[in-house]
Amino acid sequence: MQIITSITSMRSLAGSLRQEGKRIGFVPTMGFLHEGHLSLMRAARQENDIVVASIFVNPAQFGPKEDLARYPRDAEGDRKKCESVGVDIIFTPSAEEMYPEKPGVFVTVEGLSDILEGAIRPAHFRGVATVVAKLFHIVQPHRAYFGRKDYQQCAVIKRMTKGLDLDVEVEVLPTMRESDGLAMSSRNSYLDAAQRKKAACLFRALTAAEELVWSGVREPERVKQRMRAVIAQEEGVEIDYVEAADADDLSPLATIKGSIVLLVAVRIGATRLIDNLLVV
Ligand code: AMP
Repeated sequence: MQIITSITSMRSLAGSLRQEGKRIGFVPTMGFLHEGHLSLMRAARQENDIVVASIFVNPAQFGPKEDLARYPRDAEGDRKKCESVGVDIIFTPSAEEMYPEKPGVFVTVEGLSDILEGAIRPAHFRGVATVVAKLFHIVQPHRAYFGRKDYQQCAVIKRMTKGLDLDVEVEVLPTMRESDGLAMSSRNSYLDAAQRKKAACLFRALTAAEELVWSGVREPERVKQRMRAVIAQEEGVEIDYVEAADADDLSPLATIKGSIVLLVAVRIGATRLIDNLLVV
């Protein structure tokens, strides 16, 4: 396994690999890897000749009051995990390498970037779309792998890829969960034992809402109310939003029909958690 920190080296290696006819699979991450990340890497391993994983905590997608400085890091643990699932190349540039000047060039996906997560984290999706566009240009993958856990991010990246005519297949894979349903996340490491227990209410809320939809309820407000009620049972879990949205464009629903996604974002102490469930 190779570890590359320079854009020039990564770009020229990717160029030679493509010239040799190798298919490149790419998994962008911010590190502190868990089974969710590894599931993407395993899929990339199965479907490509070369697997590149990036580990880059992207300053451009953190707001000024967010957790950039304390975001968990474990370079050595990540290296071992990547090796264990057959990653060929880790691309892990510094912030100075990726943004030698204060970023003044951004990719913005309008419409999707200012709702839900974007309403609470204003420059977040601009930062995500910008770094993923840059990484696609550097790593030159045939196919890139993302987790449904970050549903809105997947929608932004798909639209960005299409809108910029990037020649990358975007693959979205299911959310990996702990045994009580909590979606795996690097940020779960912020939770103490009591908070960790409470955090399972996100998945309980989503599955309770899903049951309502399956039972035939068509009013989004009733479904959202169920999610709020389940979460309210846990003291100290503050809701940022609950939503029932169109699965394609994330627009709010007047009535529940077709493929929908249930989304939830909460704060437990200083930790923000998001989750979602696709109901098709
Ligand atoms: P992150 O390191 O949090 O930026 O995540 C890197 C990639 O892993 C993104 O595509 C995430 O959606 C994906 N991911 C994060 N958590 C999970 C999970 N629990 N299951 C599946 N994919 C995940």
